[in-house]
Amino acid sequence: MATFSGLASLLAALAARKVYLRRRNPIRAGLLLSVANALGAMLAAWELGENGLAWSYLVLMANFFIVQRAVSIPVNLLLTAGLLSHPGLLLRPLHISELLVVALILGLGLYLSRYLQNDRTHMEQLALRDALTGLPNRRLLENALDQLINDPRQSRFHHALIVLDIDHFKEVNDLHGHRAGDIALADLAAILRFELRDGDQAFRFGGEEFVALVEVPDRDALAALAERLRKAVYQSLRGPGGRITISLGGAMYAGEPHWQDWFSRADTALYLAKNGGRNSYVIAEDLT
Ligand code: GH3
Ligand code: MG
Ligand code: MG
Repeated sequence: MATFSGLASLLAALAARKVYLRRRNPIRAGLLLSVANALGAMLAAWELGENGLAWSYLVLMANFFIVQRAVSIPVNLLLTAGLLSHPGLLLRPLHISELLVVALILGLGLYLSRYLQNDRTHMEQLALRDALTGLPNRRLLENALDQLINDPRQSRFHHALIVLDIDHFKEVNDLHGHRAGDIALADLAAILRFELRDGDQAFRFGGEEFVALVEVPDRDALAALAERLRKAVYQSLRGPGGRITISLGGAMYAGEPHWQDWFSRADTALYLAKNGGRNSYVIAEDLT
């Protein structure tokens, strides 16, 4: 029993540590926490018998609320199996009330968790997408870059970042109002979505800055893509004051261990494109 309770406490501590260290991805922490809860409740029921069952009722319900269904259902089934396996706890002749309570909680929890899951998915969508343009936001970009950088396959060397920024956007806002600026941002996002191939993705990085994460074989192909984007925007993006243009900076992935260094090369290229007169692109040199 001591080992068992030690294990439950260890899992809870690990879950807390995971939440603290990786606030961005608390799913595993939720799994650890719900397993720790289940172990603790099972232990209480085994030790205290019928008097400890109330903990299990609480945990069965709480699990449906704190983690997704994919985790809460198996963990709760495991807890139920643990309770059933202990003679005299749930399966007692002439005492079916405990069994009924567990069945009721499981049924109700399953029913409620369907709605909770939909809400949770909706909230996640809201947190990861930019409301104005509908594009994935900076947080999703960072996740995608983290994943790509840590992907051992060589294909990451055929990926490139294009950072693009609207030229003199402050003037659009100052001369024609914030609403005109917002419309231009949404139009630019639509152009990017249309121009990028399936598999390539545009993100709104912040303000009037966007990032495309694309798969291209080499620097020449990246330059051709940057020019195509520049031209498409030049030809079709208009505000109340006329044409709106963008500047772009591109960089192939060159083996950087941190995506920030890769991003910084693309950003420096953008800076050069701005300094070179705007409505243009610059591709960062390959690292040799
Ligand atoms: P540059 O060519 O050097 O990029 O000049 P700029 O005027 O585009 O750059 P600056 O950074 O000075 O201005 C960016 C402007 O973008 C200022 C800010 O008001 C505007 N902006 C940022 N986010 C939004 C938004 O969500 N909506 C609108 N309408 N404007 C925004
Ligand atoms: Mg700008
Ligand atoms: Mg800017």
